[in-house]
Amino acid sequence: MSTLTHDQKSTRSTPTGQPIECDLIVTLDGPAGTGKSTVARLLAAKLGLDFLDTGAMYRAAAAITIDKEIDLADTETILATVIEADLHFDWTQDPPTILAWLSPYNQRIRDLDVTKIVSQIAAIGRLREHMVRKQRLIGQQHPRLVTEGRDQGSVVFPDAEVKFYLDADPAVRAARRAEQIRLTGNEPPPEDELLHDILLRDSRDSTRKDGPLICPDDAEKVDTSPLTIDEVVGFLESRVRARIAHRNA
Ligand code: C5P
Repeated sequence: MSTLTHDQKSTRSTPTGQPIECDLIVTLDGPAGTGKSTVARLLAAKLGLDFLDTGAMYRAAAAITIDKEIDLADTETILATVIEADLHFDWTQDPPTILAWLSPYNQRIRDLDVTKIVSQIAAIGRLREHMVRKQRLIGQQHPRLVTEGRDQGSVVFPDAEVKFYLDADPAVRAARRAEQIRLTGNEPPPEDELLHDILLRDSRDSTRKDGPLICPDDAEKVDTSPLTIDEVVGFLESRVRARIAHRNA
């Protein structure tokens, strides 16, 4: 696991460089609450790359299942309905907005009822196959991409040039989740409840048969527990730029 040295931390103050001109896929995987989404979005902006939030796709599938009152065990109907919804992103928005039946779903997918069941929906093998196909297509259409999720470096983009795996202490992740909820103006559940939900989601995500959460061998592991978002973004940016410089040397 990487711990930032003083020198690495100082890369934070390096002025943002030029956008990266060449095709480049950067994957960020890791469990909930490591700051992945925020980090991936900021990193993409700094590097001039597009940003793909694959969790939004599984969350949209979970929201559809709840809203259409589909039984969680009825995986055929879940898959058929998600296909019919034609999930895709509006890339004119920043961050890109997820659409189902051409309507924005980006608010709904963050609701607690969606978060509670999403890892069960994400364990449906045929639904994952459908999502993986869609994500690879997005990769072809947006070949300069920072993509985040659970299986981006391991399954979806195994040949990605730069791979990171973000992790953090579970208690830190629960505290971050509480803060996120507070920022939306809502009172978060007690932290032990959030911690329990996070650990349950971790366990479901890492033990499922298809596309489990793993750290790919060729990914750089970063412990974000003691770091601010800016520190993590600065560190990852320096790593990506170093890789590109090395490739072009
Ligand atoms: O990252 P986020 O919390 O939005 O992801 C929600 C859920 O979607 C995860 O807990 C996981 O079950 C699922 N997911 C996945 N594979 C991905 C992205 C998310 O299984 N690539």
